Amino acid sequence: MYDLIVIGSGIGGLTAAAWIARHQKKVLVLEANHLPGGCCSSYPRKGYVFEAGATTLIGFDEYQPLYLLQKVIGFSLVKNELNPSMTVWLDGKSITRTKSFEEWLEISAQQFGDEEGIKKFWRLAWKLSNIVWKISGSNLRFPPTCFRDLLYLALQNNPRDAFLLKYAFLSTKTILKRFGLENHSEFLRFIDEQLIITAQNTAENTPFLFAAPALCYTHYSNYYLPGGMITLPKALIREYRLQGGEIKMKRKVVSIKLNNKNIYQVIDHKGQSYESHNILSNIPIWNLPEITEGKINKWTKTQADKQRNYWGAFTLGIVMQDELPDNLTLHHQFILPVNQHIPICNSTSVFVSISAKGDTIRCPVGERVLSISTHAENPEKWFRKKESYFQEKNLVENYIIQLLEERLPGFKKDLILFIQSATPVTWENWTYRKWGTVGGIPQSLKAPVFLMKGSLTPFPGFFRCGDTVYPGQGIPGVALGGIIAAERILTRMKIKK
Ligand SMILES: Cc1cc2nc3c(=O)[nH]c(=O)nc-3n(C[C@H](O)[C@H](O)[C@H](O)COP(=O)(O)OP(=O)(O)OC[C@H]3O[C@@H](n4cnc5c(N)ncnc54)[C@H](O)[C@@H]3O)c2cc1C
Repeated sequence: MYDLIVIGSGIGGLTAAAWIARHQKKVLVLEANHLPGGCCSSYPRKGYVFEAGATTLIGFDEYQPLYLLQKVIGFSLVKNELNPSMTVWLDGKSITRTKSFEEWLEISAQQFGDEEGIKKFWRLAWKLSNIVWKISGSNLRFPPTCFRDLLYLALQNNPRDAFLLKYAFLSTKTILKRFGLENHSEFLRFIDEQLIITAQNTAENTPFLFAAPALCYTHYSNYYLPGGMITLPKALIREYRLQGGEIKMKRKVVSIKLNNKNIYQVIDHKGQSYESHNILSNIPIWNLPEITEGKINKWTKTQADKQRNYWGAFTLGIVMQDELPDNLTLHHQFILPVNQHIPICNSTSVFVSISAKGDTIRCPVGERVLSISTHAENPEKWFRKKESYFQEKNLVENYIIQLLEERLPGFKKDLILFIQSATPVTWENWTYRKWGTVGGIPQSLKAPVFLMKGSLTPFPGFFRCGDTVYPGQGIPGVALGGIIAAERILTRMKIKK
């Protein structure tokens, strides 16, 4: 009998598990894969270490979720700060996204024109972004579900920040129009593509309240993790275990049900059964109908059906001989020319991250590992392909290699030592996420972050976290969701005493 069973060792689940374990609670994490971290992980192959998904890391600045987590649970992590954090390639321009906001205003003026509207747009985004981070970390009862939560929020917040709310219902496009930028097509494309990698939606549909921190992502401390992103989940597990937490790998949960004593019974694929008064699901909403029963099943089905808007990813891992320029940024976004898109995926930009020179955990000196990703629309369609699967996979792979050859300085096809690519089918095999969906629920005006479902469900003791729960995707997002879920669970545990 456990105090809590966490299903999945994504960053959301591990954050919550580590947060609760330090309260001398008996916590068990069940993970289907042989490696932890889900979309924020790394895996060894052919002597190299490849990134599974995420490659950029923020969240350690004051008020941000990983700052809070580190302060509370004190995990240690080797991380190197990157500045500039990213280069965006657009129509022959290379646009450097610096950490310094003031420097960025200068760069933006050089690249897009010294228009007052552009400066005003960025200044508003930066102002909102800083307030959003400050507020989100101190509102651990969000979204509110009862009078006590509302009271807590009222006491916790400064009424002067209430003006923020209106930006949850205004699209980024509306704000761009307000500053006279609606016809600046180059700037609009830049904003759309920066939003698609952070908010999973474009300016037309992304509420400005979410877009502001998403667009200002590069102005916070960005880190590179030597050895790969897996060092983050591993650091959390180390701390969690020190507090007595238990984790079982290669245990896929196949059933969750509430028995007649009001205890949750969880069964893994080997038939082993575990019991607890509290369950925390760190898996996407779309996975839950398959493993739940009765009323919980009905509810998860309804919730999953409401969210039919999702992305998949097409990713590549490449090892190449290192002929890249020494001063090359580690992260790059390549925006495709107008009216072009990646075949089959229908995406219009490609994100490339390069292992740091001298990161010999990932590859020998003289070689570099490239992690490449692009959005893939309708991920389900990859599951219906039979004969055409490998042909279409090769088509996308070849298109992306061609693009890199044309646009990434120092990259040549002949320098490739090893290459592998992954479709949504591969993603489902790796993360067990239904249809290989990634990136959670795209931010949209119909479902602004404020109205997203939080960690509470109608079933006492059944909680959720991860990228299909408030505040949504991204490492800092799911870490915040994990902290909120943990606080909710601790409240219930105290009530139960
Ligand atoms: C290609 C790509 C690039 C990205 N880049 C970035 C980036 O640069 N920066 C950033 O901040 N974010 C990035 N993200 C987003 C970020 O990685 C995710 O939002 C975040 O890691 C999701 O965490 P999660 O808590 O939802 O759990 P997940 O990562 O979804 O992990 C869930 C875990 O549950 C396990 N599991 C599933 N089903 C079961 C079951 N039945 N039983 C037991 N275990 C189960 C899985 O194996 C997995 O380990 C990227 C995502 C992708 C896909």
